Amino acid sequence: MAKVMAISNQKGGVGKTTTAINLAAGLSAAGKTVLLVDFDSQGNASQGLSAFFTEDQPTVYSVLMEGVPVQEAVVRSEANGFDILPANLALAGADLEMDKQGAGKEQLLSRALEPLRDQYDYILIDCPPSLGLLNTNALTAADTVLIPVQCEYYALEGITQLLITIRLVQHTSNPGLRIEGILMTMYDIRTRLSVEVAQEVRQTFGRLVYQTSIPRNVRLSEAPSRGLSIFQYDPRCTGAQKYQALTEEILERARQEGSHE
Ligand code: ADP
Ligand code: MG
Repeated sequence: MAKVMAISNQKGGVGKTTTAINLAAGLSAAGKTVLLVDFDSQGNASQGLSAFFTEDQPTVYSVLMEGVPVQEAVVRSEANGFDILPANLALAGADLEMDKQGAGKEQLLSRALEPLRDQYDYILIDCPPSLGLLNTNALTAADTVLIPVQCEYYALEGITQLLITIRLVQHTSNPGLRIEGILMTMYDIRTRLSVEVAQEVRQTFGRLVYQTSIPRNVRLSEAPSRGLSIFQYDPRCTGAQKYQALTEEILERARQEGSHE
């Protein structure tokens, strides 16, 4: 059974998509089978992995709202070694459409992914930058949630709101949801702010925070324009080394928990 991991933070630009792509690549390089679900209408993960081969390519929206079988919407990224369930702008209106579905509207993604759960070791969900129904669907489908936090002012406030949402989901649609970990992103050792925020987050959340922080690294922002993960684009750069270290940390935690190894 796949471990389903939502990568979530309602703030945009904190490194969700970058983490989703590169963690998917890291896990698949470690021999795991991986599906990356793009669950943001901006479709950044799909574009960053060149996941659109035809104009009429079905997407996660087609699966949720148009009854397309999920297997038909999954595409293989040969270059990166894992599968993608792509998204595009059609997903932008899905919050409202889903809301009209009434009972069970939080479970739509969870149900859609059901036929795939025994086909992968990991299913990663790249969440949208909001706390609406799409995000609730992702948290309801997930076993755990990985929270990327940018090292800047208000970082803690953002996490607090997300934690309230997670607690709500635990009390309603997904009692088993756990926090996978908190990842400090765009860390800059030269700025006091970055160092202070990282310290504060570590003091507050202790062992939930990964030892590995992701530094600012321009190579990480260049890789998507080539449709590649950082491991294919520039395997020696700091960004690749850090996402490799994160992957190992996550696999090590899974080993300690006695699952997925
Ligand atoms: P989100 O999905 O949370 O909106 P992204 O992963 O898309 O965030 O990152 C926002 C922008 O910052 C993108 O242009 C991305 O390429 C860039 N970026 C993300 N992480 C890093 C990093 N560690 N160093 C440099 N640029 C980064
Ligand atoms: Mg994103």
